[in-house]
Amino acid sequence: MDYNRRTFLKTAATGTIAVTVSPDLAFSSEKPVIIEVVNPRNRVPVSLIIDDSTTLVNMAHFGIPQFAEVFPDKYKQDWRKLPREIPDSFVREFGEWSAAYGVKGKYSIVPYPACTGWVNRFIPGWTKRELEESLKLVREVIVPNWDIHPEMVSHTRVIDIKTGKPYPLATPEFMENWEWSQNKSADELAAYQAYALNILKEAGLNCEGLTTPGGYGGRNQDNLAIGTLQAVRDVYGSEVPHYFRDLFTEKGVSVAPQVRFPSGLDTSDPKCVVSILGCTGDWFGGWDGLEPGDVNLFITADLQKGRMVDVIDSGEPAIMVCHWPGIYFNGEKTGFNILKTVKNRLDQKYNHLIWMKLSEISRYWAAKELTTITLDSKLIKLKAPFAAPDFTLKMNASVKNPFLKNAAPLQKVNNIRNLKSGTFFTENRETLICFDLKKGETEILL
Ligand SMILES: [Zn+2]
Repeated sequence: MDYNRRTFLKTAATGTIAVTVSPDLAFSSEKPVIIEVVNPRNRVPVSLIIDDSTTLVNMAHFGIPQFAEVFPDKYKQDWRKLPREIPDSFVREFGEWSAAYGVKGKYSIVPYPACTGWVNRFIPGWTKRELEESLKLVREVIVPNWDIHPEMVSHTRVIDIKTGKPYPLATPEFMENWEWSQNKSADELAAYQAYALNILKEAGLNCEGLTTPGGYGGRNQDNLAIGTLQAVRDVYGSEVPHYFRDLFTEKGVSVAPQVRFPSGLDTSDPKCVVSILGCTGDWFGGWDGLEPGDVNLFITADLQKGRMVDVIDSGEPAIMVCHWPGIYFNGEKTGFNILKTVKNRLDQKYNHLIWMKLSEISRYWAAKELTTITLDSKLIKLKAPFAAPDFTLKMNASVKNPFLKNAAPLQKVNNIRNLKSGTFFTENRETLICFDLKKGETEILL
């Protein structure tokens, strides 16, 4: 056994990293120590993506006739019977419930909702004061638990960003949901996306990511990712931009966040962009608020089956997807009631979930995948391009008293469920260490 052997393995996509053999740790001889970055606090991240929300405007009422103009055979919903507004009283009810129950995720604010008006200027049909109060409500009640994303500019017609007008033709080539984005360069997408982000910035909302409307960028994924990295950094200076474009509901397909286009990791200005994947369909109330969902698709009453059970048990982040008109369901709140039941059932079954915003998951995954970890005898060295709270390492060795250099002493916890930043847990030749990872270098003495 070579006690001084220095093993230097860069992070693999799996998160399994440094391997060494050391006589100083309490484990059987010759067994390599494997250090792995696991989920934050060794819990399973859970989140909810809310699409097609904005201020006041019911996107289904105003969007359906514009979609029907392009595809008359496909959009036959009687949009006139849908309410034109999703009221702020419901936004408040939902926001206060999510705050009380710790439910977190992403909430869209479509900047020019279905071409009705501009959230940073005015929306015809509502007073200026109603718009200002709606934005204030979002800032105060929604923002604490939810990332804000634009869902491009209008979610219907493509806007000519030189003139601010929609293009004249209502064809798939000029709709955000369909063709326009599929053949644009990364720079063209970045410019369009920055245009959307700037409207929200002017409306006093902070964004670290964006959501694609409908099929936007689906056949242009690399340019979408690079264009998002550029746009979010240019407009907001966010360190770890992210986006939501795809969801997968099939067993066996990973739904772990994808950390894409990392660069400059050794510089003071590291870059990457994170693609967040949903793991469910909208089984709440649909994008138009006309098709009731089914709570049992998420988790059954006996708590044994359902997509959320499958994904949580796999250990990957379980990120649900819904649409705001379906949550409100034209005042019947069908989707909201399904969400309440899902939350209740998850709480009955699990005590190791951690609700996170998409920006928090993105930052954690960027740190998890891009931090370089080496183990030299009893010293773990981490080189992190990005900071991440609740960063958690797991190793197959007993450690009596791990010590984080230049930080408060780590406290030992006797129950793994009490693991949080600044603590460690050790049992049966396995140790978990949880701390707030700082950007740059960190040393842990075992
Ligand atoms: Zn949408």
